[in-house]
Amino acid sequence: MITIVGAGPAGSYLAYLLAKQGKEVTILEEHNTVGSPVQCTGIVTHSIEKFFKLKNEVIAKKLDKVIVVSNNNRITVNVDEIVMWRDKFDQFIAEMAQDAGAEILLNYQFLKFNEKNSIKVKDKKNNKIKEIKTDVIVGADGPYSSVAKAAGINSNSKNYIGMQAKVKLKMDQNAFETHFGQEFPKFFGWCVPESEDIVRLGIGCFENTQENFYRFLKNRTGKKDILCWESGLIPLYNPKRMIQKDNVYLIGDAATQVKATTGGGIIPSLKAAQTLCDCIISNKNYNKEFKKQSGRELLLHLKIRNVLNKFSDKDYGKLLSLMEQEKVRKILKKYDRDNPIPLVVNLLLREPRFFYFAKILFA
Ligand SMILES: Cc1cc2nc3c(=O)[nH]c(=O)nc-3n(C[C@H](O)[C@H](O)[C@H](O)COP(=O)(O)OP(=O)(O)OC[C@H]3O[C@@H](n4cnc5c(N)ncnc54)[C@H](O)[C@@H]3O)c2cc1C
Repeated sequence: MITIVGAGPAGSYLAYLLAKQGKEVTILEEHNTVGSPVQCTGIVTHSIEKFFKLKNEVIAKKLDKVIVVSNNNRITVNVDEIVMWRDKFDQFIAEMAQDAGAEILLNYQFLKFNEKNSIKVKDKKNNKIKEIKTDVIVGADGPYSSVAKAAGINSNSKNYIGMQAKVKLKMDQNAFETHFGQEFPKFFGWCVPESEDIVRLGIGCFENTQENFYRFLKNRTGKKDILCWESGLIPLYNPKRMIQKDNVYLIGDAATQVKATTGGGIIPSLKAAQTLCDCIISNKNYNKEFKKQSGRELLLHLKIRNVLNKFSDKDYGKLLSLMEQEKVRKILKKYDRDNPIPLVVNLLLREPRFFYFAKILFA
């Protein structure tokens, strides 16, 4: 019996893969529905289709351009991205898991480990504390992971605060914007259209997030009307994080499996689910296997983030002017950010001036 805590993309996709292998799987989800509250922009590269074909109702928009903005510089690069309705996406994977035979218990909150091979949970419908027997427990319970805490898996990890709201704004319906520079210390701001007149506008920061968010909102929209909030924590990938301790495993945000460049965690968590499924079925060491399968990619994102964090506005200007070249645009279109190793290798080979940015890391 395998118990997965959390019916986000990481937990549900893992449940689907394990159930398909004939394992008895139960997901515990503390909310009364899967997929809400939404705390995400829901934008992914088309690499998501390596995992499954999305249903049409999950897709809010397909975008073919990103507009990169820094100070007065602005360039447009062709991409191939999908904006999802995040609640429908989570429900879509949860249904896949159920169809494969997994059980989902809604309103069940993981509390703590009991004696060996058993956990204490709260049935929130009637506030009763119950015991569940389980051979394996997986914490797919997000950045605050109670499973990690209960297992004594220490978290020295850092989190960005991702402050996002829906606002009324008309923008190019085929493009999303990313905003960089000193105004966005150590991360960036974004504007992603979800419909003709509604945009998901956000910013990530370690501190002063509110102040930075409202400044961005005012500069970009000229007003302050918020339709609804969709904020949350974005973990910074921690390569030292322990993700398996005996029969306890962590996945997704709970394991900091997020691209440090963009804060995107959906695709890395799907890939991690494939690795973890294989580890559970074949009794492999997940700490090692994850490093082998995804460690180098996530580390590269982290290193790029460290370089970006040292950028001056002048450096962003230089980066944008290199990106404007046709040969660079072609590489950016061919290799998306979910394939960072060929992306960076090809950029360096075709445009050696990118080495200038590597020097910043070691300066
Ligand atoms: C503002 C913002 C914007 C983002 N935008 C993007 C984006 O555009 N693209 C992208 O790829 N990523 C984005 N991310 C990151 C992405 O949302 C996460 O990486 C992703 O949701 C991780 O999935 P998960 O399954 O690990 O965790 P979650 O999606 O957080 O799911 C965890 C689940 O566990 C449940 N849970 C928690 N504790 C318990 C408990 N004790 N008992 C039972 N259930 C519990 C929760 O209710 C939740 O359903 C964004 C994040 C933020 C904050």
